[in-house]
Amino acid sequence: MRMFRTLGNVAVSPSLTLALAGLMMAIVDVPARAETGEAPTPPKLRLPAEVVGPVHYAADLTVVPDQDTFSGAIDIQLNFKQSASVLWLNAEKVKVKEAVLTAGGATVPLKVVPEDKDYVGFALASPVGPGPAMLHVAYQGEISRKDMQGIFQVKDGGQWYIYSQFENIGARQAYPCFDEPGYKVPWQLTLHVKSDQVALSNTPILSETESGDGMKTVKFAETPPLPSYLVALAVGHLDFVDAGTAGKKNTRVRIVVPHGRGGEAKYAAETTPTIVNLLENYFGIPYPYDKLDEVAIPLAGYAMEHPGLVTYGAQIILSKPEEQTLQHQREWSSVAAHELAHQWFGDLVTTAWWDDIWLNEGFASWMANKIVNQYHPDWQMNISELNSYQGAMENDGLVSARKVRQPIESDDDIANAFDGITYNKGSALLNMFENYMGADRFREGVRRYLAKYAWKNATSADFLASLAGDDTSIGAAFSSFLDQPGVPLVTATLNCQGGAPKLELSQQRFLPLGSQGGAPERWKVPVCVRYPAGSGDQRECMLFDQESSQMALAKATSCPGWVEANGGANGYYRVLYQGGLVDGLLKNDASALTLPEKVALIDDIAALTGNGSIPLGRALALAPEFARDPERQVVTKTMTITTGLEDRVIPNDLALKYHEYLERIYGARARQLGWKPKPSESDNERLLRPNVVAVVAIEAQDGDLIAQAKSLAQAWLDDHKAVDPEVADSVLVTAAKYGDRPFFDHLRAAAKREQNEDLRRTMLFAMGLFPDPEIVKLALSIVLTDEFDIRQSLLIVFGAARFPPTRDLAYDFVKQNWDALTAKLPTDSGAYLPDVAGGYCDEAHRQDAASFFQGRSTKYSGGPRNLAQMLEGIDLCVAFKKAQQPSVTEFLKSYGTGQGEAGAR
Ligand SMILES: [Zn+2]
Repeated sequence: MRMFRTLGNVAVSPSLTLALAGLMMAIVDVPARAETGEAPTPPKLRLPAEVVGPVHYAADLTVVPDQDTFSGAIDIQLNFKQSASVLWLNAEKVKVKEAVLTAGGATVPLKVVPEDKDYVGFALASPVGPGPAMLHVAYQGEISRKDMQGIFQVKDGGQWYIYSQFENIGARQAYPCFDEPGYKVPWQLTLHVKSDQVALSNTPILSETESGDGMKTVKFAETPPLPSYLVALAVGHLDFVDAGTAGKKNTRVRIVVPHGRGGEAKYAAETTPTIVNLLENYFGIPYPYDKLDEVAIPLAGYAMEHPGLVTYGAQIILSKPEEQTLQHQREWSSVAAHELAHQWFGDLVTTAWWDDIWLNEGFASWMANKIVNQYHPDWQMNISELNSYQGAMENDGLVSARKVRQPIESDDDIANAFDGITYNKGSALLNMFENYMGADRFREGVRRYLAKYAWKNATSADFLASLAGDDTSIGAAFSSFLDQPGVPLVTATLNCQGGAPKLELSQQRFLPLGSQGGAPERWKVPVCVRYPAGSGDQRECMLFDQESSQMALAKATSCPGWVEANGGANGYYRVLYQGGLVDGLLKNDASALTLPEKVALIDDIAALTGNGSIPLGRALALAPEFARDPERQVVTKTMTITTGLEDRVIPNDLALKYHEYLERIYGARARQLGWKPKPSESDNERLLRPNVVAVVAIEAQDGDLIAQAKSLAQAWLDDHKAVDPEVADSVLVTAAKYGDRPFFDHLRAAAKREQNEDLRRTMLFAMGLFPDPEIVKLALSIVLTDEFDIRQSLLIVFGAARFPPTRDLAYDFVKQNWDALTAKLPTDSGAYLPDVAGGYCDEAHRQDAASFFQGRSTKYSGGPRNLAQMLEGIDLCVAFKKAQQPSVTEFLKSYGTGQGEAGAR
C-alpha cells in the first residue's frame, strides 16, 4: 500500500511532496538543548508507539567499498496517532545534515536533538498530528572495518566488499528509523554504487542507470512489509553461481560470492533448492519472496535470514571440493535449512518484540532438524539436535539462566536474547510438544498460525492459540516452560505393589551442586514413557503438573523389566531413576533403548553427577558399558562423563591412573581407527575418528598417537593432502599441545598463507596450546599486531586459556591489555572476554575475575549476564570438585585392581 495525501486539491505522491518540502525547509544539526535550556528527553528502551509509527520507507544510499563513510537520505511516511512536538527515532553513529517534515500540506520547522546512543530526536516548532506526515532526513553514516553490525566492509582477495547486518539493533546505524521488530512496513531501497560493481538487496532490481561519473543508480523493487532488521544490502565485485530454481513459483536461486570464488559454491548450489522444496511441503505455503540470493560474507561467523538475500559466513556456505568435510556438508545443510525456514517463520511472520524471539530462532532450529532429517535421514542429525538440547539444559541449570520469554528491559537483554536458551531450549520445547500432540496435529497448528499472521507480526500467545485451538491445556503447559527458567528433574520409581504397575513421579527444578537457587518452580510436563508389554513396547503420556503423581502403566501384563521415563528422548526434562530402574535399562547392553534414549540417559547420568545424585566414581564405572556401543554418538556422549576431568577434579597423584582409565575405554578403538582413514570405512567411522583418537592422544597422552600426529601435522602444513580433512583439526591440536618451537614457527608461517578461514581459525587456536609458556607468550604477543585479523587471532588467547599450564598467561594477557583489546576488537566484544577465565575452578581466581571484569565487561551489551554466568560456572565447578573428588579418588585408586570396575556397579 502506498499512502497518498492531498496538497490543495491535487493528490500527490510522497516524492513530489518531498520535493516541495525540500525547497522550503532545510534544518541543519542544531542542538535544541543549547537554545531552550530544556531538552526533550529521549525514550527509554522503546519508541512511543502510541504517538507515531512508520507507514513506508524510501532509503537512498551511496556506498563505495574502501571508504569509511556513506551518505544517505531517507523518506519516511509517518502516521501520527496523536499530536506531538518531538519525533523520536532510533539512530546511532549517524550525522544528520538536513531534516524536514511535511504535514497537512505544510512544512514544520525541525531541530535535531542528537543523543549519544540509540536515538535522535526531531523537535517541532509547533505540534504536529494526529494524521499523516512525511519526514525527510539527509545524513552521513559509517562503514565499519572492524564491526559486522550496521553497514560494514570486509576484504577478500585484496578487494573490499560491503555488506549489512542489522539484527538486532544495527539498522539504526544505516538510517534513522523505527528500529523495533514490531514496525513492519514496505521499504524501497536505492543504491548508488560504482558502475563496475554489483549491488544487491532483498528484492529484484527495478532499474539500473549510469550517472556518468563512474557511478550508477540501482533502484530495487519495493519490499513486502519488513521490520528494519531484515533489510539488507551487498556491494562489490561479486560473482554469481546459478543454483537453478526452487519451489512452486520456480524462484531463481543464486549463490553470491566474492570475485573468483564460484568454484567453492557447488555444494550450496546443489542443495538449496531441495531444502526450499521440503520447507514448502511442510508449511503448505510457497516460498514467499520473488528471488533467493544466498550471499557468502568473508570472516563472518553467522548467517542471517534476510528475505531474498540470505547471508552466510563464507566458511559456512563455501567449501573447496578437495577440502570439503562430511561435517561441512551437515553443518551447511543445517544452517541453510534454519535460515530458509526463517523465510516463513521469522520473515513472513515476525515476532512483535524481542521477548518472543524464540518464535523465530527456536522454531527455525527445530524446523532445520526436521528438514535435514527428511533430506538425509542417514546423517541422524536429530542426535546433533538432541546434543544441543542437552547443552541448553546445562545452561538452564544456572540461577543466572534466562527464561525463554525473558522480559526485555535494556539493550543488554536484547543482546542476551540470542542465546542457547532461545535457540535450543526453544527448539526442544517445540519438539516435546510436537511429540506429545502428534506431528500432524502440530503441523496443522503451525499452518493455521502462518496463514493468520502472514506479512504481520505475532506473539507467543498468538502462536499457542493457533497451535492447539480450543485445547487450552497445551498453551498452559507450553507457557510453564516459556515463562520460568530451569529444567525439571523428574524422579521415577516403579511400583508393582498391589494391582497394576505404576510409575511414581515427582518433579523439582534441576539444580547443580553449589547452586544458590531455591526450587519453587513447577512445570506442566508432558511425560511420555515406554515399557515392554506382551510382545512389544507400549507408550503412555500424561501432562504431569503436580509435585508428585502416579502414572498407571495400564497396558503392562506384569511388572515391566524396564521403563524408559523419557520415551524417545523427546522430553525437556532430566530423569533420576530410583530403585533398580537404571539396571533394568542397562541390561543386555541397553538394547531396550533407542539411540536417542541412550544418548539422553548418558547425558542425564553426567548431569546427575553434577547435582550430587550420582557419585562420579559410579558414573565412571558405568561409562565403559556404553563406550563399547557401535554407534559413534553413544561413544562420544560417554566423553561428557569421562573427559575434561584432569584439571577440575582428578588429584595430581592419580593423573596416571586417569590416563590409564581413558586408555582402557577408548584406546583400542583409537588405535584401530588410527589417524588415517581406511578405504572401506563408513561415514560413522570417519566422524568418530577425530573425537576418539584426539581424546586418547591428548587426554590419555598416548605416546604413539602423539608422535604420529606431530609428523602428520608437519606434513599437512606443507601439503593439506597429507591428512584426511575430517581429522585435520584434531591432528593440529594434538601436535600443538605437545609441540616445540620449530613446529610453532612452521605453524605460524603456514597460518599466514592459509586461505581457508576455518583452517586458519584452528591454526590460530592451536598456536595458543603449546606447553612451553615462552612459546605461548610469543603467540599472545601476535594478537594485538596486524599479522592476522584480530577477529581470528583472538583465538590464540582462548587456545592458551584451554589448559592449566598456560591459562594464567591468557587471563593475565586479557587483564593487562584490556583497553587495547576492546579498542581493536568489534564493538561489544568486551562482553565475551570474561570467558577467558571460564576454565578456572578455584575461589581465588573467581574473586579476582569478578573484581576485574565488574565495571569493565559489564559496560558492553549483554556483558552483565555473561559475566554472571561465567562466575556461576566457576562456583559450580568448585562445589563439584569438593563433592565429587572423594568418590573419583576412591574409584581411581582401586582402578586396574579388578575392584574399581566391579565395585561401583
Ligand atoms: Zn535464526
